[in-house]
Amino acid sequence: MDFNDTPQEAAFRAEVRAWLAATAPAHVVQQGVTLDDAEEVRLGRAWQRAVYDGGYAGITFPKALGGRGGTVIEAVVFAEEESRYTLPKGPYIGIGLGMAINVIARHGNDAQKAQFIEATLKGDLTWCQLFSEPSAGSDLANLRTKAVRDGDDWVVNGQKVWSSWAHRSDWGILVVRTDPTVPKHKGLTFFVVDMKSPGVEIHPIRQISGASDFNETFMTDVRIPDANRVGAVGEGWACCMTVLMGERLGSGSHKSTVTPLLDYAARTPGADGGTALDSSSVRLALAQALAEEQGSKYFEARLRTMVSRGENPGALAGMVKLAYASRLQRTSGLALELRGLDAIAPDADDAQTREIQHDYIWSTVMRIAGGADEVLKNQIAERVLGMPGDIRMDKDVPFEQLR
Ligand SMILES: Cc1cc2nc3c(=O)[nH]c(=O)nc-3n(C[C@H](O)[C@H](O)[C@H](O)COP(=O)(O)OP(=O)(O)OC[C@H]3O[C@@H](n4cnc5c(N)ncnc54)[C@H](O)[C@@H]3O)c2cc1C
Repeated sequence: MDFNDTPQEAAFRAEVRAWLAATAPAHVVQQGVTLDDAEEVRLGRAWQRAVYDGGYAGITFPKALGGRGGTVIEAVVFAEEESRYTLPKGPYIGIGLGMAINVIARHGNDAQKAQFIEATLKGDLTWCQLFSEPSAGSDLANLRTKAVRDGDDWVVNGQKVWSSWAHRSDWGILVVRTDPTVPKHKGLTFFVVDMKSPGVEIHPIRQISGASDFNETFMTDVRIPDANRVGAVGEGWACCMTVLMGERLGSGSHKSTVTPLLDYAARTPGADGGTALDSSSVRLALAQALAEEQGSKYFEARLRTMVSRGENPGALAGMVKLAYASRLQRTSGLALELRGLDAIAPDADDAQTREIQHDYIWSTVMRIAGGADEVLKNQIAERVLGMPGDIRMDKDVPFEQLR
């Protein structure tokens, strides 16, 4: 199998590279500069609009829905080239592109596709994900936020948590319980909710860094029109799986985290006068990380091909996230060790060390968000390797009878 670009792909890559060289520099955000949230979202929308105007938004989406009608490989080529620039692409844009429009395209009706997909591709709509609750994270199907039908509307009451960037989102993707009389996975229904709806209250969660990327989202008698239900009543779990598969598959990086380290190690003084690259243990760690990264890249390409054929990679998608997060933790940890004390307090102009610090902290987050390591390992053990399943006492019991 040849993983190099075909002549057509090489031509597409050259076209994208030229377009990015002309367009991206004006949108690049400086590493280490903390932007006001509103300004960050404004920049994110502007970049997404530029991508749309350039004809590269929603590469695999049909032209009729505002996409390019291109191939998965073209989408990967674009993402690889785009990752050469530091662009404003936070969750407010990523949740829309990577989750909301996928679930709407797969489970939504024509009116929903027309209303939401192109507007999101243009950067006009920002999105948040309203899944997790105080007692429903890894065990998402344990969620308690409920919706009751009232005429043409549903009335929603409950609380979500860890809603990234909900405070700057126009719409949310929401999963709620609509039938407590059936087992927990079966009584869920999926909606899109206008975040300006009366009864939606967003409380920021303050992080140790001082930033507030997450929120608690309280919903009190929020009325959602039935027209904003995505998929059938009771089929919310299937919609969640579509979202989570996209999140896990998209959680790798198109940018090598290992290659910059070779350069970093070459510039780091070694113990005996040379550079860190003279150390066989450093070379071994880098070689191992590079081999894993290459393996992941091709594995990811295989899964993307499955998706493009309409196949569902299922639990295999979790392997992409699992491998990426632990590799990022090891490589950024190694880089910090190479830097020694300077890694703790780098010079103001040492953008690379700051980026590595960020990667190291982010890697721990990546091991939880979108499915914790242990949970993904359980799924891989059961569904990929066919090992015996965990004991699940609550699987067939009506939700309302669970203690
Ligand atoms: C950066 C970030 C962004 C996020 N953004 C969003 C968002 O926008 N919207 C949203 O809805 N959620 C969001 N989340 C929440 C995320 O989905 C949950 O944190 C995640 O699903 C884990 O749930 P939990 O935090 O409740 O941990 P728990 O489920 O309580 O897990 C705690 C620990 O127990 C372990 N554990 C749990 N179950 C098992 C098991 N069966 N076997 C073995 N070990 C187990 C886990 O591995 C974990 O270490 C975000 C989280 C992070 C970190």
